[in-house]
Amino acid sequence: LFETRHEGSYVKRNVGGKVPLGVMRKSLRIVVTGGAGFVGSHLVDRLIERGDSVIVVDNFFTGRKENLAQHFGNPKFELIRHDVVEPILLEVDQIYHLACPASPVHYKFNPVKTIKTNVVGTLNMLGLAKRVGARFLLTSTSEVYGDPLQHPQAETYWGNVNPIGVRSCYDEGKRTAETLTMDYHRGLGIEVRIARIFNTYGPRMCIDDGRVVSNFVAQALRKEPLTVYGDGKQTRSFQYVSDLVEGLMRLMEGDHVGPFNLGNPGEFTMLELAEVVQETIDPNAKIEFRPNTEDDPHMRKPDISKAKELLGWEPTVSLHKGLPLMVADFRKRIFGDEKDGGS
Ligand code: NAD
Ligand code: UDP
Ligand code: UDP
Repeated sequence: LFETRHEGSYVKRNVGGKVPLGVMRKSLRIVVTGGAGFVGSHLVDRLIERGDSVIVVDNFFTGRKENLAQHFGNPKFELIRHDVVEPILLEVDQIYHLACPASPVHYKFNPVKTIKTNVVGTLNMLGLAKRVGARFLLTSTSEVYGDPLQHPQAETYWGNVNPIGVRSCYDEGKRTAETLTMDYHRGLGIEVRIARIFNTYGPRMCIDDGRVVSNFVAQALRKEPLTVYGDGKQTRSFQYVSDLVEGLMRLMEGDHVGPFNLGNPGEFTMLELAEVVQETIDPNAKIEFRPNTEDDPHMRKPDISKAKELLGWEPTVSLHKGLPLMVADFRKRIFGDEKDGGS
């Protein structure tokens, strides 16, 4: 910690810490694991825009270089192909730890790898934080609440998770990652932050990742039926990616460890979501029912009172406003720049 004079005021510089708005801040060195993925790449855009140096660590399992191509050639940006399950030595001030597949189809593809990524990968990033004194942020998930028996879910709820189910590589993996994070904090004094992220959508999602928003949008654009799993009455709450990135940055810069729910409380059944997609893309899109997947949570909606109060954060983009922004991106990627996809 030291002080510097700028524009007549003394500003405390604390590398991992909070910097008052409106005063010049030291440029930080930040590592974003999973930065080539959907959420990570949007976060990197904001950090670079803010003037920080960013190192992305990614094994490209679900991420793509294309998501970061806008930063190639920028001396403040570095991309390292690396698997977080292996140790890595870096010198940084902050660690945003996102590396982990997020779509059920992706995380069930190699469940042992998923839990290793969550446990060993998180351990390595906490070891890194300890060695260099960096602040560490974990992107946990609403899946820690499992098939919740409380609705909406507040951070105080301990969850209802099947420890031996097909989703447990992810949800138990993230629960263990939270435990590791808190134990490094309590036992070793590491500065940590925990975000519990609810379903998020937006441009750069993998087109065929099997998640409901990407499936419905791609299906409607391709003139295929929208596949509703089960009776379609299960609910989710959908957050636009820019709201999430704002929440993650406020959490990292703020004074509170968390966990904090970051999600949009607007709750929809899958049938209601299908209707919004029909209105946005193709009113004639058909709906086809398919069997649901095992252990699918029946409902999910964040209680965001804590983030509102302590981070001054709440989402600003509704599904009706956010979906068209994602559709434009999917249209381009599915049909190319030239065609409009016929609708
Ligand atoms: P994503 O799959 O697009 O991004 C994950 C990134 O991590 C990819 O670039 C992937 O290549 C990389 N990765 C995976 N395993 C890795 C490993 N072992 N080593 C290095 N890199 C690895 O997913 P996303 O939606 O951007 O999710 C980012 C984070 O947010 C994840 O931790 C996820 O669990 C969490 N999250 C996301 C959502 C959501 O709705 N998108 C919801 C809850 C939590
Ligand atoms: N680690 C890492 N980079 C570092 C420091 C540590 O990847 O800069 C890894 C290290 O290899 C170990 C893990 O983080 O597997 C936990 O490190 P810690 O020092 O906390 O534990 P220890 O090595 O003492 O078991
Ligand atoms: N779902 C659906 N059709 C699809 C894909 C998913 O009805 O094509 C349902 C799925 O059964 C679940 C919800 O949509 O109830 C959200 O699934 P997703 O995989 O997007 O994320 P989750 O919240 O389960 O991690």
